Amino acid sequence: MKLVRLVYYSQASRSMNLSDLRNILETARSNNSELKVCGMLCFENEFFLQALEGERETVNELYLDIADDPRHEGATILSYDEVEQPTFEIWKMGYAAGSESFYELLRKNGQTEFDPEEMTKAQALSFLKDMAGCQTDV
Ligand code: FAD
Repeated sequence: MKLVRLVYYSQASRSMNLSDLRNILETARSNNSELKVCGMLCFENEFFLQALEGERETVNELYLDIADDPRHEGATILSYDEVEQPTFEIWKMGYAAGSESFYELLRKNGQTEFDPEEMTKAQALSFLKDMAGCQTDV
């Protein structure tokens, strides 16, 4: 079995409230635990940044479904790598938004404003890994 990690970003197609985000996370958490996919989702400044880790075909298919979701647009893959061990294993789908620690870790990773379009692959991954340790409750 080949494990992969896919990282993409996208932009909300309309303004998102807490209940929209709850809906997305509820679906993600229940589907992903069945699919044995884990990851991390960040939302701030109308941008989503998400890592998905799991079996290669499962992640590929899930990404196509997610990219098709009308709640966001312009889904762009930042990186796609084979991995030995999942990084986000403990969280079925972690979530983080614009808290103080969010911006602290963003600065540590070279940005002052959350703009995944301007992130390198390494910055995005490092930020997602850091954020997995400082999640937001929804
Ligand atoms: P349903 O939830 O019944 O959805 C059927 C269709 O309707 C899908 O095409 C969906 O895109 C669309 N849809 C659902 N709810 C709404 C709504 N409120 N407004 C407009 N259209 C809607 N799903 C996961 O399984 N795992 C993830 O990690 C994951 N991450 C996501 C990240 C983002 C940024 C977004 C926007 C969505 C994410 N989703 C995730 C949801 C995913 O796009 C699909 O909704 C989900 O996989 C389909 O679930 P379902 O088969 O139960 O169908």
